[in-house]
Amino acid sequence: MLIVMRKDADDNQVAGVIRAVEAKGFKARPIPGGERVSIAVLFNKGAIDPAFFHELPGVKDTIPVTRPFKLVSRETRPNATVIRVGNVRIGDGHRVIMAGPCAIESETQAMTIAEHVKRSGADMFRGGAFKPRTSPYAFQGLGEEGLKILAKVRETYGMPVVTEVMDMAHFDTVEDYADMIQIGTRNMQNFSLLRRAGESKKPVLLKRGMSATVDEWLMAAEYIMAEGNPEVVLCERGVRTFVRHSRNTLDFSAVPVVQRESHLPVIVDPSHAAGFRDQVIPLSRASAAVGAHGIMVEVHHEPENAQSDGVQSLLPEQFDVLCRQVRAIWGLISDMPQAETSS
Ligand code: PEP
Ligand code: MN
Repeated sequence: MLIVMRKDADDNQVAGVIRAVEAKGFKARPIPGGERVSIAVLFNKGAIDPAFFHELPGVKDTIPVTRPFKLVSRETRPNATVIRVGNVRIGDGHRVIMAGPCAIESETQAMTIAEHVKRSGADMFRGGAFKPRTSPYAFQGLGEEGLKILAKVRETYGMPVVTEVMDMAHFDTVEDYADMIQIGTRNMQNFSLLRRAGESKKPVLLKRGMSATVDEWLMAAEYIMAEGNPEVVLCERGVRTFVRHSRNTLDFSAVPVVQRESHLPVIVDPSHAAGFRDQVIPLSRASAAVGAHGIMVEVHHEPENAQSDGVQSLLPEQFDVLCRQVRAIWGLISDMPQAETSS
């Protein structure tokens, strides 16, 4: 349930409603809006009788939330959320390009790629320091050394950095260095990790599990928001299907569905969906056209020597083309309305 406060409700009245919700054994999460505050009631089992809350000073209305996800839902917050990562904004009309190598391999490699992608117009830099690899014998990332290199990229090129956290053991360390914490496809339903991300003050990039439905993905975001972190950006990165011509199948329809169901920004990662370099630019154009709030792509100046995902990494000059084409498409669709807010 959502308790909508009157426009003129003061802080004492908001605090009074929060106390009343908590006295009933539920959790209350205030959601500041443009004109008024709403208070989401969480952790209730079954329907709540709204009559009691209607009597409280400052309360205008109560709205039942019919979706299983609450804080993530458009029902709770009809206006699109804009997330800030350093000087970059994501969501609503703000669209971003994140680029960088799959993994940070050395300072020279990261700085070389950062210089290229910055020049082409990337807003943010990506790169894994802790890598989830299918084989235990494959390169696992440089760990904290990789995070230090990312910090240097941020200082040198002024791009906020996004990097993956794989487990609880390294959460504090990743959190210290990253501007945005990535939770990868394999960890989308790692509930302790999601809860820990919910306690963080850093924005989270939540990738869709490779076999997850949109509802499961939104529920994973709900875990983060329910712990108190409202800064979540969703990332579609392809799902497992029977096809062999690409690594995964990019589920474009997830983008308008997420935008209908949720106020959170949603971006697309065409690199991990494609698995092959030649598909990345066309899929990026399509991601822009479908209205994603951003794209995240892998770029490498020497992909033949990359420690991971070289086959899908764009060359710097290809990334340059991608940026121009993607921004041109965003320019074309900028006048079009965002996804419908109700169904
Ligand atoms: C990545 O972005 O580095 C990554 C491993 O992606 P995913 O979790 O989508 O496989
Ligand atoms: Mn990769």
